[in-house]
Amino acid sequence: MVRVAVMGPSGRMGRMLVRQVDESDLATLSAVVERSGHDWIDQDLGRMMGGTERGLAVGDNIDAALAQSDAIIDFTAPHVSVALAQKAAQAGVAHVIGTTGFSDANLSLIAQAARTGRIVRAGNMSLGVNLLVTLTRQVAAVLGTEYDIEIVEAHHRHKVDAPSGTALMLGAAAAEGRGVTLADVADRGRDGMTGARSTGAIGFHALRGGDYIGEHDVIFAGEGERIVLRHVASDRSLFARGALHAALWLQTQEPGEYTMIDVLGL
Ligand code: NAD
Repeated sequence: MVRVAVMGPSGRMGRMLVRQVDESDLATLSAVVERSGHDWIDQDLGRMMGGTERGLAVGDNIDAALAQSDAIIDFTAPHVSVALAQKAAQAGVAHVIGTTGFSDANLSLIAQAARTGRIVRAGNMSLGVNLLVTLTRQVAAVLGTEYDIEIVEAHHRHKVDAPSGTALMLGAAAAEGRGVTLADVADRGRDGMTGARSTGAIGFHALRGGDYIGEHDVIFAGEGERIVLRHVASDRSLFARGALHAALWLQTQEPGEYTMIDVLGL
């Protein structure tokens, strides 16, 4: 059994991850870690999740959690994941990062940690979205810049970053298909007198509201026709399943930073 620790068990994804590990025949829950000062610290996880006592207390000591784990799954916040990447690499523990909203500086620190650590980082852990990434790259490579690419995403009202990590992955795939760098062509959230659309731009738009789990459209808008590639997530457990799959997959990998495209072999 692979011993898996979960970060942020009280969070939307954290709860799903705990359930996913509990349901697995291949993994066992070794530790759960919340931020210092959180109400759940030192409380029994089972009780905090609204069930019966299970004899596993929520902790706030990352080093102790790493010492008793083979993998740690982390859907928290950028500064938390960056610090954890360094510690997990030192401890030789595989690190699955589902967190989104990283700055370029954050990403280079994670890449540094992956020189010795084993990391899977993906803005979206679902099979469907990773397939969509592959399709987006292919369609963008086939169609010229006479097809305008716009990426529209929708998420629940609590999401703190925009555009979503998934939208950025899709944008990067479209840019790669066209042989350009996303940073040079991204047009994020237009407002006011923006002027006409520039040829080759990749546009991003973010809807926020209610309980959307995550929806992404990649639109290729040409003259007289539009192609729309769409993914709709209707259950968060989808991401937790992918994350656990990644944690198990990392057990036999060499140090490096991998994506779900690698894990899924797409
Ligand atoms: P959330 O706010 O519900 O949960 C975050 C959890 O992290 C909370 O329980 C919080 O207390 C905990 N946390 C914060 N600091 C911590 C620390 N220092 N140590 C341990 N725990 C800490 O958010 P969410 O909706 O679960 O999303 C979390 C992240 O995952 C976001 O970045 C979101 O965009 C991303 N996400 C990614 C995917 C994917 O497939 N990659 C899917 C869904 C969400």
